[in-house]
Amino acid sequence: MTSASAALLHRGWRLPLSTFAAVSSLKNALDRLASDGARASFGTEAAPSSINWVFLGPPGVGKGTYASRVAKAFGVPHIATGDLIRAEIKSGSSLGAQMKAIVNQGKLLPCDMVQRVLQERLARGRQEGERGFILDGYPRTAAQAEQLLRSTDIGLVLNLSLREEVLVEKCMGRRLCRHCGKNYNVADIHLAASADGRPEIVMPPLSPPPECAPHLETRADDREEVIRHRLEVYKQESKPVEAAFRKAGLVVDFELVAGIPETLPRLMPLLESYVGRHANERK
Ligand SMILES: [Zn+2]
Repeated sequence: MTSASAALLHRGWRLPLSTFAAVSSLKNALDRLASDGARASFGTEAAPSSINWVFLGPPGVGKGTYASRVAKAFGVPHIATGDLIRAEIKSGSSLGAQMKAIVNQGKLLPCDMVQRVLQERLARGRQEGERGFILDGYPRTAAQAEQLLRSTDIGLVLNLSLREEVLVEKCMGRRLCRHCGKNYNVADIHLAASADGRPEIVMPPLSPPPECAPHLETRADDREEVIRHRLEVYKQESKPVEAAFRKAGLVVDFELVAGIPETLPRLMPLLESYVGRHANERK
């Protein structure tokens, strides 16, 4: 080793140890994720089997991000009903026009309209040989859940959760760059393990780069009372949906205790073990 690199190494080790630990654990996590992801897509290609999964979780839990990352790793589409509805409205179809009129009045879309758009999307996917889907944002009611169970062979319902105080902090930490539209999260969460046995939670902020930093803004509805109200509404609405899926024996509960880079490598092997499990096999 040259004296220059020794000096560099020496200087390096004088960085706070926690920085090193964080960087190396992030790197390990990403390496594991890359190999898990590769294994997952390879394995399912070798033995084609459906991945018909539903992701549930409160606002702020990061459900959309998890759904999209997992869908990509398993080679299935991430179907968010919000996106389907926006696309239907944009398409200018007669159903889209009806939906637009309802949404413009600030009303909720009737169940059967949402169901129709979703069922058409799932049917098209089956025709085109998609191996399944990850549903995000649906179902919202027990009736929708039961209809989905009757019409589709759902294999797994992943129920993501996160301690409520962290959800609130995360929602309050959301920032939008008004320049480029990217999302960041400035909440720096570090909760110690609680006396009643709940695990430590560490979620570092997703800090903006210098070019976005001066343009960040908070969405008007990310105020604490609004966030708490949204969580309360979610709790009430999700109970019957969860109950319908629990009755069918499909729910897997997964509590988040860290950010996405640390969590995905824990989540992927768990999900892999569910590939190809069908409702029919349990009958
Ligand atoms: Zn920006």
